[in-house]
Amino acid sequence: MIPHADADSRAFWDRLERHELCAQRCDDCGLLRFPAAPLCPWCRGEQADWEALSGRGVLRSWTVTHRVAHPGFADRVPYVSVLVELADQPGLLLYGLLDPRTEPAGQLPVRVEFVDEGDRTTVRWRKDVR
Ligand SMILES: [Zn+2]
Repeated sequence: MIPHADADSRAFWDRLERHELCAQRCDDCGLLRFPAAPLCPWCRGEQADWEALSGRGVLRSWTVTHRVAHPGFADRVPYVSVLVELADQPGLLLYGLLDPRTEPAGQLPVRVEFVDEGDRTTVRWRKDVR
């Protein structure tokens, strides 16, 4: 199952296709935000620019799905959905799937991988071994 871009998130998905992870940075308060939105959740500012992110963070939470809840995931169970706190800003969270070769653990350092599926690229996280 591939996410669909909307007017707010189109730049995110377009850059993801070029294997660049990015988020909006508010012109007013200077904070990054995810997911993409027309207003800053911190200051309600309307202006923002897209900025490339490091692609690194730590695992904050995860859940393992064993049952098929959508036909698009039938060939993937079990899979691990994760919440990653990005190194770029404390509290900035991004979700995605965990690489099946990575065992989830709290505070695990992870880095992004880009997975090309059909006409869309998605985010997957794996253990950062740098
Ligand atoms: Zn702001």
